[in-house]
Amino acid sequence: MSDPILSRFALNAFEMLGDEDPELYKLVEGEYRRQIYSLAMVASCSNAHPSALACEGTFTSNVTAEGYPGARFHAGCEYVDQFEQLAIDRAKKAFKAQYANVQPHTASTANQVVTSRLVNPGETLMGLSLDAGGHLSHGAKVNISGSFYNAIGYRLNDKGFIDYGQVEELAMEHKPKLIICGTTAYPRIIEWDRFRKIADKVGAYLLADITHIAGLVIAGEHPNPIDIAHITTTCTHKQLYGPRGGLIMMGREWDLPNPRGKGTLSGLMQSGLFPFTQGAPIINNIVAKARALDRASRPEFKELAKRIVMQSRALAQALADRGMNVVSGGSDNHIILADTMASFNVTGIIAEKALEECNIIINKNFIPGDQLSPFITSGIRIGTNSMAARGLTEEAIGQCAELICRVLKSVEVVSEKEYRLDTEARDKYRDEVKQIALQFPIPGYPLPED
Ligand SMILES: *Cc1c(COP(=O)(O)O)cnc(C)c1O
Repeated sequence: MSDPILSRFALNAFEMLGDEDPELYKLVEGEYRRQIYSLAMVASCSNAHPSALACEGTFTSNVTAEGYPGARFHAGCEYVDQFEQLAIDRAKKAFKAQYANVQPHTASTANQVVTSRLVNPGETLMGLSLDAGGHLSHGAKVNISGSFYNAIGYRLNDKGFIDYGQVEELAMEHKPKLIICGTTAYPRIIEWDRFRKIADKVGAYLLADITHIAGLVIAGEHPNPIDIAHITTTCTHKQLYGPRGGLIMMGREWDLPNPRGKGTLSGLMQSGLFPFTQGAPIINNIVAKARALDRASRPEFKELAKRIVMQSRALAQALADRGMNVVSGGSDNHIILADTMASFNVTGIIAEKALEECNIIINKNFIPGDQLSPFITSGIRIGTNSMAARGLTEEAIGQCAELICRVLKSVEVVSEKEYRLDTEARDKYRDEVKQIALQFPIPGYPLPED
């Protein structure tokens, strides 16, 4: 590099923020410290790579570029077209896709594009119920997907596995136009081909939403649905360690006919995104996606993906050894669902709050058959994306399990939502968490000198 002009831009930018807006600077710095000193075990997040964040936080956002590479409604897109084409090529390579659209602002938007183009208002779609681990955009009543369409929800069996028999029965009965598979809180492998057989039997399109497991899919640690489902969607911020954003992709069936008119199914997705759903793309976000997709395609990422699964299995076992009731008995991916109510008589919300006080960040979650409200719940969801990136050893994972169980056992329950945690004990737990966080810093996130 001759003149490190971009580094100068970034340094200057943060200095300007500090000088001109100390109030906001302090808040942003506070969040930085929170992240590096706590243990983030929320299954739906990770630590974005600093190079991806650098791409996102920059002046490429200044370009308005409605349309697609080579076909824009604005001038000044010489570089923008190359950014977007690179992101598309990298997405196709990473997921072995034939078609990729890198413009969705989020995975929810990606799902909205697919659903709104394949299902008309009032027609039927099917997805995993929200309380069984499905996503809002898969047919939840409070979402567009459950209010504009007739949404039918399938569930898990009593062992905590997807009930494929029920999926088939419901599909035969309701004849959906679209079946959505993919989850936000499912610790097991998803059998894409079983879903496809069912979709074919009733003439439905199949959407695989791999938002949670995209990294494992790229690395070959989870089967890839790209050639099995008609359409695959994902986000880039959960397991790709990239910017917040979505992707829409297709495999071998990219050129199926467009059910709404001329052209192909992938063409329908293309116009479904712009102009049907979104306006101009977020260019800086696309640059950051290109960066994250490149990292995810490298051999080192395969090691990271292996570590995600290994840690998840080790943590599930270590928790079970300490009396935690682990839903489905283990984990095949990065997610562990734990029934804190059955294990320690602590609701999900109390577990979340008590652990947060100790700087262990997890979230409350429904467990199969949950009788409590979504604001309380009987369990928690834990994820290993961030801990795997930090490189925690198996011993440190055991220490985390020990900490989680000790915190939950020392909680004094007052009501479904209220509890007491001895402040002296809490400070001790915080300190132990900080020691682990310092021993395994987030790669590329410098520790403060003070
Ligand atoms: C998180 C998630 C989404 C939504 O992602 P956003 O980027 O928050 O819109 C969609 N589908 C599944 C399965 C998810 O877990």
